[in-house]
Amino acid sequence: MPNMGSENHQIVIVGAGPGGCSTALWLARLCPRLVERTVILEKYRHPRPKVCAGGLTTRALRMLADMGLSLNIPHAKIDHVRLLFENHSAEMARRDCMRIVRREQFDAMLADAVRAAGFELHEDEEALEAGFARDSCRVKTSKARYDAGVVVGADGSRGLTHRCLPNYGRYPLVGLALDTPVTPGDGDDLEKGRITIDFTCNASGAAGYMWHFPFRDGKERGYNRGIFCSLKESTNRGNTAKLLREGLRARGVNTRGRIRGGCGGGYHPQRRLSRPHLLLVGDAAGGNALTGEGIAQALMYGRLAAEEIVRAFLRNDFSFRFYTARVAHSELGRNMLDSLRIAKSFYPGGPAAAVPSITADAALREQVADFISGTDARTSQRGITTRMLAGCILHGTPDPRTMLKILKRFIRKTAQF
Ligand SMILES: Cc1cc2nc3c(=O)[nH]c(=O)nc-3n(C[C@H](O)[C@H](O)[C@H](O)COP(=O)(O)OP(=O)(O)OC[C@H]3O[C@@H](n4cnc5c(N)ncnc54)[C@H](O)[C@@H]3O)c2cc1C
Repeated sequence: MPNMGSENHQIVIVGAGPGGCSTALWLARLCPRLVERTVILEKYRHPRPKVCAGGLTTRALRMLADMGLSLNIPHAKIDHVRLLFENHSAEMARRDCMRIVRREQFDAMLADAVRAAGFELHEDEEALEAGFARDSCRVKTSKARYDAGVVVGADGSRGLTHRCLPNYGRYPLVGLALDTPVTPGDGDDLEKGRITIDFTCNASGAAGYMWHFPFRDGKERGYNRGIFCSLKESTNRGNTAKLLREGLRARGVNTRGRIRGGCGGGYHPQRRLSRPHLLLVGDAAGGNALTGEGIAQALMYGRLAAEEIVRAFLRNDFSFRFYTARVAHSELGRNMLDSLRIAKSFYPGGPAAAVPSITADAALREQVADFISGTDARTSQRGITTRMLAGCILHGTPDPRTMLKILKRFIRKTAQF
């Protein structure tokens, strides 16, 4: 066994993705003297590859601005969203509703900001084990051993730290993607700044959607394409990669590229996100069950975790027993719970039932887009359902039978959690 040193840092952040970097940057803003007591461990070296479509919603951009960061890396600006359903399609013009980045560049930008704030960032250092004593958490890595009063689990959905908590309530999600060149089927999407969200895979039992996101990286241009599914609601589990290939072939895309990605966990209110000396953030805690979005969420978790850590130092209480509840009552928790309820109410049997009203009612479409992108944090599932109910009464879309079905599911899910 190699001779390992023992290091005493009061705060150890495991993982330097958006969740870990956001926690660090918020710590620096809220309590600068904690910077020198913190170490961040990252198993790779930035810029490191990351499977992701790189879509930054309005919510993510708002979080970056709150952190005092500007997006100083190449990105594509999105002004139009095309929605494809089995028998319908709709197009929405929403100025600057999303920016598409290359994740390795985005994460490297965050890591640079963390270094500039004065943090110790140990790259190429993988956390291998975490264990708990009465007043600390011990993290063993490939290079050292850390006994810390606070460990932040920011190591993603397949990392080490989330396994220190019961897995109950983890909501299984899958995301697969690949980069491809531009094809004739993409038309002028790249020039117009248009993304496509394609729900036609619902007809094959997938509870989710496919995406086509254009990207620019210097002279290189292309598309990130992929599929997201909420596995619990899908009737076609295990065939997600096949569905993606079929969907891409239908659009005339060469599917020989390597598909990457895998399973992760969505946020679930019944899941604990902390135990004494440990807090989870980002994908380790759970992403959005309706859309699979996780960058904005990771940035938001980071702020909540930093606030909790500062509170813990002030009170000298590292039990973190209120963290799960604080997340649940925050803007992040409320949005993710609403998203989970919508995923559970609308995905079974396909969102086809709700489509006529979404495509016919411009105000409802805007409301759904506000909810998903975080443009208006007050938009909620209740508001969307109420608007649908009004559409049903006034215009007959969706038809009363479908509306009743949606309402029943919504009431059941609201009562459940
Ligand atoms: C196919 C796909 C497409 C997606 N597209 C989007 C999108 O367009 N927009 C969006 O908002 N979200 C998207 N997501 C989700 C998004 O990628 C994640 O939610 C986001 O990366 C979560 O950030 P994080 O910091 O929690 O975790 P991560 O980004 O996974 O970062 C975790 C970090 O921890 C490090 N690490 C892991 N284990 C250890 C260890 N043992 N020791 C030390 N370090 C460790 C990793 O190397 C990594 O740097 C997508 C996901 C997938 C799978």
